[in-house]
Amino acid sequence: MDLLAESTELANDLIALRRKLHAIPEVGLQLPVTQQALLAEIESLGLEITTGTAVSSITAVLRGGKNPGDGPVVLLRGDMDALPVVEKTGEPFAPARDSAHGDAMHACGHDLHMSGLVGAARLLTAHRDELPGDVVFMFQPGEEGFDGASYMLDEGILDAAGRRVDAAYGLHVFSGYFAKGQVTARPGPLMAASGGLHVRVIGAGGHGSAPHSSKDPIPAAAEMVGALQTLVTRTINVFDPVVITVGSFHAGTKRNIIPDEAVFEATVRSFSKSNAEQIATDAVRLCESIGAAYGLTVEATFEGEYPLTVNNDAEYEFAATTARELLGADRFAELADPLTGSEDFSRVLDEVPGAYLFVGAPKLDLAVSATNHSPLAAFDDSVIPDCAALLAELAVRRLNRG
Ligand SMILES: [Zn+2]
Repeated sequence: MDLLAESTELANDLIALRRKLHAIPEVGLQLPVTQQALLAEIESLGLEITTGTAVSSITAVLRGGKNPGDGPVVLLRGDMDALPVVEKTGEPFAPARDSAHGDAMHACGHDLHMSGLVGAARLLTAHRDELPGDVVFMFQPGEEGFDGASYMLDEGILDAAGRRVDAAYGLHVFSGYFAKGQVTARPGPLMAASGGLHVRVIGAGGHGSAPHSSKDPIPAAAEMVGALQTLVTRTINVFDPVVITVGSFHAGTKRNIIPDEAVFEATVRSFSKSNAEQIATDAVRLCESIGAAYGLTVEATFEGEYPLTVNNDAEYEFAATTARELLGADRFAELADPLTGSEDFSRVLDEVPGAYLFVGAPKLDLAVSATNHSPLAAFDDSVIPDCAALLAELAVRRLNRG
């Protein structure tokens, strides 16, 4: 079978599907319009389809014709959700501003992921008699901070075929960073673990002219912001980095009023389990201790968001070889460093071995192309047939590997 050639035959359909999905972006865990559009695409393929209970996910199982009820199981994943961004690309298929979808945008390219996964389902279905195992298609809502993958894991996605998934693959497109059609990834840590630090410093308000008769929360909170950076440089191994960014800081109303409290939030990124655990504990202790030093009450909590996204070494090598042999040796290069973004496909890769790949899809010249999440992020959807073929090829080869 020549999946790349067969995928090229589907190009018009897949690009049209991507543009249709692009016009109906939905944010979060409930994506009913997107879900219906996808169901209409795959219902004629003869897959075993179930939809999520808690979220608007779709699980579709393709039964291979060889070794029925036996053989390996491969999972392919595509995320479905958009972002609360008002699109400014000027694309003719951008959501209509006055429609129900006008305040959202597929600014992270998940519309290309869905179209690519539908393409893989069509390619694999055409060859079902030759497949020595089953394929689970995971259409997942709520990747953008809603932990949609966890809901699908709770609802049994990894056992959807009646036996455990043996390997899982997914890919992510980028409107910047990587040249069009370039595929890249790395073994081991690929994307950061993320967490959020939430701090409330409680003092006692008063007149700005008389700080001695109040308890000013602002200087202590400001000290915490600075000390968090010192905590990183003095306690974290420089070769295993941690990023802390205080992205929100609120206190007070007027220059001569000492407020009752100051509140700030930080995002925290790390690249090892040990650092993720260490910083979660130490950042909270640091803020509490600084508050205590000034006689203030501090409510500090750390919430883990997504774990580290880790490519299994063997599955990474397999995926890299597959990409090189399918698309050409010059189309795949190993990524030097992980990305500081995070991703809930990490939940799947925590449970089963697999690999996650990045695909360059900038529509404009790399030097000027806006990155994912920008209202100007423009994706070249001519990469979709390659994405579909790559996902399908990974499944076929992995099933045949046994
Ligand atoms: Zn994304």
